[in-house]
This record gives sequence, C-alpha cells and structure tokens, in this order.
Amino acid sequence: MSQNNMETDNNGESGNKIKRAKKRSFIEILIPVLTFMTIVNCIVILVLVVNIGKKVNGLEQRLLVLQNNDADEPYQEASVMMSTDINGNTVDESEAVDIAEAAVCENSHVWDDREDSSAGIKRVYLTFDDGPSANTDRILDILDQYGVKATFFVVAKDKYPEQYKRIVADGHTLGMHSYSHKYNEIYESLDAYKHDLTQLHDFLYELTGEDCNIVRFPGGSSNTISKADMWELIDYLDEEGMVYFDWNVSSGDATGGHKSASQIARNVLDNVGKYNNSVILFHDAAGKDSTVDALPMIIEAILESDNTVILPISKDTVRVQHLHK
Ligand SMILES: [Zn+2]
Repeated sequence: MSQNNMETDNNGESGNKIKRAKKRSFIEILIPVLTFMTIVNCIVILVLVVNIGKKVNGLEQRLLVLQNNDADEPYQEASVMMSTDINGNTVDESEAVDIAEAAVCENSHVWDDREDSSAGIKRVYLTFDDGPSANTDRILDILDQYGVKATFFVVAKDKYPEQYKRIVADGHTLGMHSYSHKYNEIYESLDAYKHDLTQLHDFLYELTGEDCNIVRFPGGSSNTISKADMWELIDYLDEEGMVYFDWNVSSGDATGGHKSASQIARNVLDNVGKYNNSVILFHDAAGKDSTVDALPMIIEAILESDNTVILPISKDTVRVQHLHK
C-alpha cells in the first residue's frame, strides 16, 4: 500500500513536471507568434499611413490644378495632367497620346521654302486653330483695333454661333480644321476624314452661308498620328477644290506648359522675319489668355517692320505646306 502511495507521489511529481514543461513550451511558442503579429500590425499601419499621405498629396495637387483652371491659367498643364481635349473634355488614353503627339508635331514646322516668293513685300498670316472659344471675341476686338485680317481654322461648337458669324462679318477667313477634332476618329481612314470635313463644311455653310475651301489638318499635314495616308487626304482636298495650309512659324502656345505673353511674342517675332511669307500658328482656346495678351505686341512689331503686311489666307496665298508635290 505504502509502495503504491510512493508511486502515486512520484506520478504526481512527474505530472507537475510535464505540466510545467507544457506551460514553458506554450510560452516559447506564444512569444514569437505575438512578436510576429506585432510586426505585421506595424507594417499594415505603416502602409496605411503612407497611402493616406499619398492620397492627401494627390488631392492637394488636383485642387491646385482646379484652382489654376479657375484662374484660366495653365490650360496646357491641366490638359496634360488630366488628358483633356480642346473643349476641356476628358479623353481616353489613346486620344491623350495622340493629343500629346500632335502638340509635338505642331511645334515642328519644317517648310521647304522654294516657293517663298516676295515681289519686295513680306506677308504675314495670323492663323488661329481650334476656335471659336471664350477668347474669340477678344481676339476679334484686337484685330479690329489694328485693322488687320486673320484666318480662323475652326472646329464645330454649338456654343458659339455668333462668333463664326462675326469672323465672316469682320472680313477674316473662315478656314476648316475639323468637326470633332478627335485624332483617333478623323485619321482612322480616308472615309473617316471625308466624313468629318464634310460635316464641318455643312455646319459652317448652314450657320454663315460661307462655302469654305481653306483647310488646316489637325496636327498639320506632316503629323505622325494619321493611320490614313496623308497624301490620299491631300488628293481628296485637291479633287474638292480645297487648299490646305500648314505653318512655318509656331507661337508655341500649345506645347510645353503655360507660356507667358512675352514668351509667345518672342517665339513669333524671332522667327517671323525668316520668310517672305510667314504663316503663324496660334490657338483660339479657353484658358489661352496669354496668346490673346501677346497679340498687340506681335501685331505692332509686324506693322512697324518695313514693307510688311498682315493678310488673311486665300487660295492665292503662297502654299505654306509641310507636304507638297
Ligand atoms: Zn487643332
């Protein structure tokens, strides 16, 4: 019996030892698990904090862009960041790429000046793409003030019926640019281009009674965007008795962010003397106020130059074309 008790005691003692061992091994497992979970929690919290920080930063930048837009300031910067078209509408990625590419094309103006005939006089043509816009009336007022005529390569906008009419009534040339100005639509094929230009022609005819026949290709005839062969488009214009014009002086108001009025004036006046016939590219677009602000200094400087006139483009104008036969 006593032997049995001893055995029981021994059994009790070894039972306690096992319990203690179990407790130790449980703690030994628990500590690394807790440590691991704490580290994971810290990482999760860190990631959350960084992301919230980024979001706040992004919102601040977005707010800055919106504030700038309110001030009618950097149209270009905003359009690059937010991928918007000439009307300020958001576009898909492929159109955004085309718009960026067109901006580069518009800044290059290689012109074979073989036909730069002079007869002792220098001719300057002020041309405005993408209008009408909220700026059209201001541009027309300035042209009127100096008594000079220009050329407007317009798109179709229901918002500005009076401005198309005023362009014609004031004696400027109403040129055709594009109905939709959507690169990935108009340059899809020859038929797509024909459709777009016919739509614009009819839109302008109905509104103003003008049978327009002067054309400027979006991005120019030397653009690198078109899926259709540009020569086919040019042949089509020939068949229709239409004449297209590119430019040999770029004001730079569409590329590389916001430009000040004096930068735009310098871009123009540094280059306008190079040719006997200068076709200057400007943009008539909302937010491009510095283009309008630059006009008086540009016009005054040109009018002060010897034997120099400012004219609207007509079919008789020397063909300033990047692609020609
Ligand atoms: Zn354009």
